[in-house]
Amino acid sequence: MPDASVNNDLLARHRAVLPSWMPLYYHDPIELVAGSGRRVTDAAGRTYLDFFGGVLTNMLGYDVAEVREAVERQLRTGIVHTSTLYLIRQQVELAEKIAARSGIRDARVFFTNSGSEANEAALLFATNTRRSNQVLAVRNGYHGRTFGAMAVTGTRSWSASSLSPLQVAWLHFGDRLRGAYAGLPDADHIEAAVADLREVLATQVGGDVAALIAEPIQGVGGFVIPPDGLFAAVREVLDETGILFISDEVQTGWGRTGTHFWGYQAHGVVPDLLTFAKGVGNGLALAGVVGRAEVMEGVPGISFSTFGGNPVAAAAGNAVFDYLSRHDLQANAERVGSLLLDGLRSGLRDQPHVAEVRGRGLMIGVELVRPGGTVPDPAAAGVALEACRRDGLLVGRGGLYGNVLRIGPPLTLTEAEAREGLAILLDACRYRSDGGTPDR
Ligand code: PMP
Repeated sequence: MPDASVNNDLLARHRAVLPSWMPLYYHDPIELVAGSGRRVTDAAGRTYLDFFGGVLTNMLGYDVAEVREAVERQLRTGIVHTSTLYLIRQQVELAEKIAARSGIRDARVFFTNSGSEANEAALLFATNTRRSNQVLAVRNGYHGRTFGAMAVTGTRSWSASSLSPLQVAWLHFGDRLRGAYAGLPDADHIEAAVADLREVLATQVGGDVAALIAEPIQGVGGFVIPPDGLFAAVREVLDETGILFISDEVQTGWGRTGTHFWGYQAHGVVPDLLTFAKGVGNGLALAGVVGRAEVMEGVPGISFSTFGGNPVAAAAGNAVFDYLSRHDLQANAERVGSLLLDGLRSGLRDQPHVAEVRGRGLMIGVELVRPGGTVPDPAAAGVALEACRRDGLLVGRGGLYGNVLRIGPPLTLTEAEAREGLAILLDACRYRSDGGTPDR
């Protein structure tokens, strides 16, 4: 076991000075002090294979020479920040690349420092364009911690404030295990979601609606994957009255899902706005909104950010973007992700407490339940999380009930590393045969 004493002092100081509601993973929380490739080392000197990447943020892995050198080069110029009042070459170059790759016609890019801010900006663009503060959002979705982003976040545990600046109506979307569409085949699921949308528009909102905001795969919500094509069917209804579609690609972007560069592409539909964050800075604060010019140009008032797209973050972004294109990491996510997904599915098939192993590319969820049913078992997920850590693997946890293991390694993961992590995961998810209690 790790040497808990190493952390005790820092943990006590953390608790004394940081708010108590800040969640920390693990009974004995980890302080990471070094990283290389897909591995990180904690203050006690233990090394872990990282299948979570700080919530899908470390997209290329740790200490990638190309990114480090790009950042160092920029730091050496002495220009760390300039604000958006000046021309920033790195920012323009990155915006060109992202716009060209976005799939959005005549796209504009606005950089922010976080996914929350990106969604906040997207909601502002949409509500101003449509002159309405009514928004559609999806149950159990997660969009961030700013006021607007929190207002469209559909889980109470992440949505503490009821003082919303938006009027939000909630849709059912992707959950296959429980809720309104549990167990439905794809076509019926889509039909039911469209009927639900029509009913919400007819009965739950008054007048114009600005936008629908949705994640193509719910991240914090537990890697919940709606049927392919659902967004296209929904989009047809939205188009009848000009409601805008915001695709939150904070977790699904940059090829993570393997089959597509953006999550929305699995549905055969193009959003009006998409938001990105996390992986593109490979750890540096870099996020933003891409959108159609007509929508993005309508709100001149917010066209400033002190740090958004600063030269250092943008330098990292360019290096990350070039790296993932050159190495075709999307294809790697597809290949290595399939290996992991297949291995988890076949290895956990007989486990009565594993309700589902689901995923796309390197975004894989294992849903743990009380044996034989769909009653969520968050305690089991906690035990599995600790067991993985004990055996040298970091994974995440999520889902509405905290009962889903979230696996989102760097997209550079090798097959050998996938096999190594798979073995640990299979072992961690194994239970005693006498009825559902984890054996550690
Ligand atoms: N949208 C999604 C889908 C996310 O997963 C997150 C972060 N978990 C956010 C938005 C918010 O991003 P940030 O934490 O960078 O503000």
